[in-house]
Amino acid sequence: MQIVRAALNVPLMRCFDYLLPQRVKAQIGVRVLVPFGTRKLVGVVTELPEQSDFPLEQLKQVIEVLDKQSIFSEPSWKLLNWASNYYHASLGEVLISALPVKLRNGESAVQKSKILWKITALGEQALLSGALKQAKKQIAALQALSQSSLEKSNNEFNSAIWSALKEKQFVEEIEQVVEIKSWQHSLGDLPVAKAENRLTLNKQQALAFTQVLFQQGFAAFLLDGVTGSGKTEIYLQLIEETLKKDKQVLVLVPEIGLTPQTVQRFQSRFNAQIDVLHSNLNDTQRLNVWQRAKTGQSAVVIGTRSALFTQFADLGLIILDEEHDSSFKQQDGWRYHARDLAVVYAKQLDIPVLMGSATPSLESLNNVNLGKYQHILLSKRAGNALMVECQLIDLKKQNVINGLSVALLKKIEDHLQKGNQVLLFLNRRGFAPVLLCHECGWIADCQHCDKPLTYHQHQRVMRCHHCASQRPIPRQCAKCGSTNLVTTGQGTEQLEQTLQQRFPQYGITRIDRDSTARKGKLESHLNDIQQGKSQILIGTQMLAKGHHFPNVTLVALINVDSGLFSLDFRAEERLAQLYVQVAGRAGRAEKQGEVVLQTHYPEHPLLQRLLQEGYNAFAVDALHMRQVMGLPPFSSQALFKAQSRNSIEAEQCLQQIADYFQQWKLAQNQPHLQILGAMPAPFAKKADQFRWQLLLQHENRAILQQALRDFDQQEIEKSWQVRLNLDVDPQDL
Ligand code: ADP
Ligand code: ZN
Ligand code: ZN
Repeated sequence: MQIVRAALNVPLMRCFDYLLPQRVKAQIGVRVLVPFGTRKLVGVVTELPEQSDFPLEQLKQVIEVLDKQSIFSEPSWKLLNWASNYYHASLGEVLISALPVKLRNGESAVQKSKILWKITALGEQALLSGALKQAKKQIAALQALSQSSLEKSNNEFNSAIWSALKEKQFVEEIEQVVEIKSWQHSLGDLPVAKAENRLTLNKQQALAFTQVLFQQGFAAFLLDGVTGSGKTEIYLQLIEETLKKDKQVLVLVPEIGLTPQTVQRFQSRFNAQIDVLHSNLNDTQRLNVWQRAKTGQSAVVIGTRSALFTQFADLGLIILDEEHDSSFKQQDGWRYHARDLAVVYAKQLDIPVLMGSATPSLESLNNVNLGKYQHILLSKRAGNALMVECQLIDLKKQNVINGLSVALLKKIEDHLQKGNQVLLFLNRRGFAPVLLCHECGWIADCQHCDKPLTYHQHQRVMRCHHCASQRPIPRQCAKCGSTNLVTTGQGTEQLEQTLQQRFPQYGITRIDRDSTARKGKLESHLNDIQQGKSQILIGTQMLAKGHHFPNVTLVALINVDSGLFSLDFRAEERLAQLYVQVAGRAGRAEKQGEVVLQTHYPEHPLLQRLLQEGYNAFAVDALHMRQVMGLPPFSSQALFKAQSRNSIEAEQCLQQIADYFQQWKLAQNQPHLQILGAMPAPFAKKADQFRWQLLLQHENRAILQQALRDFDQQEIEKSWQVRLNLDVDPQDL
């Protein structure tokens, strides 16, 4: 009897043994359908062991072997195994979550055929005779079909339209065998790139380009270039060179970086097939991209962090744009950092990886200092855009109207009068973050999170930004009954209202999660800005990146003080990055731009350094501080998080883990292992769950890894009613 060992998507670290039915074969890396308790699960075969730790008669049989060959390419398999080991995540969870949903559910991994809608003779007649004169969408669908057949699970018309048309026998389904053509074959005689759109690189760009181009095998490059220095142009030309060598390219971008503008810029450059993995693809479309990359039908795949798990026939280059962006860190399920994994992957594949940013993470700058990454600096803006001027406004010395200083209002007026646009940045949506009683100080807070509810004036509701619960706006204080309730602090809605009153003659566009919740709203707002229908733009983080507003000449950060005095040691780095990103929105065309920061602490050394000498000087200081304090990247961290409806359970569970590591420390003679906690998490309660954490830190990554390997999480988890997870290299403390 052949035994197979399968990794299952369950939060247990071990694999499970099954027996193969007679005459059925399986290889490592194939999916199997197996019984698990009362369920059937899809697992992945990781070993074909000679014997099991369990008696054979206890082993259950595999129900079905789903693949003929491993569905993981050799490099992906290696990467995922490495990741499971490093992040201490269950191999089954890592392997299965790397697959498109359809494959996780056991569907076929081989592209055999696809179902198409085809117009029938009756349908053609109906179009000509105008038989469908009321049903506009059905006509549109028929018209599209009269041009060419459409893929059933991948078209712009919804299924109700198709059912209606099928009922009338105007359309029929046909099955088409999928022909697998490599991207080179599909390209035919066309060149990979459209030369007419290529720009001539300036000197700095050309140096950067050749440094990467002449790299043989693995190297990690940090392309450290100010916003507008032409990093994207370098990416495009390197992609072209890689394609000319018949190799594929993977481009990873942050979540908010995957805008239609970005995709368009890539697509308009190449004749070769580009596939984009964005969040609104359906499962069929995702599976298609996965298959196309794996079989060499796509030349370039662009996507967010999880696109790293796309498999390629022959990958030649990885590009990771905005490498400092926090969206590269997966924050739930098994937690990984796509940037760090991309470097591991490139090393395993022996290919270059290029990481770009105007504001590199301190981790990456440290890797440059250590000689692990090669540093490429682009200090000038490409084209003829001018550098921006920066200024601090001291709020202590100003009259402030709803968060806006008189000095800033004056500047706004100046820029508007010159016919330019202004962008005001405030990372807080809603009208006000707090509603309180003027008589007794009572605060309207969320009972599930113990945090203030945000006052949303427009939607007339109080909303919790942590758990999304909402309540009607109270008319009276719950404690003293007073009706004298007031807001404090400002959100984007309030900013909009204040500016409307002050500048009634100008159009205002506000972009935040509330104003863009409905489909198509973001696009229409962006359109209003591009066409100059509005002159005042108000936005949260959503507006900080990726968009080009050539007529914006003034950018203001309304309040930066929270970034200066946070408990999180990364807050200053994030503020500096945000400042540079936002500043990059100003004066991108030929117009001189100006950036203004409002603060109560203009003398703060970080702000001074940042404004006077720029991000890189700031980074030198900040890295020095981290070193003095023994914080990452000069040490490694791992964070255990426990949550439970019962606060004591969560605390005691972590305390038991802390005790374990205390003993480990003594037994292994590792006095430098720091064990901090158990302590309440920064958000100690969220959605009725109490949250506790335990931080481990050691200057030596290998020793921390050893400690984690020796620890048996499942053993502890068994005895507590908690949700426990481990975050290796956490980004948020
Ligand atoms: P980044 O990605 O570094 O922010 P981009 O690649 O978007 O910069 O370039 C900024 C602007 O400069 C774009 O409008 C781009 O078309 C232009 N640009 C880039 N490289 C060149 C060049 N070599 N010559 C002229 N214009 C350039
Ligand atoms: Zn009160
Ligand atoms: Zn809440």
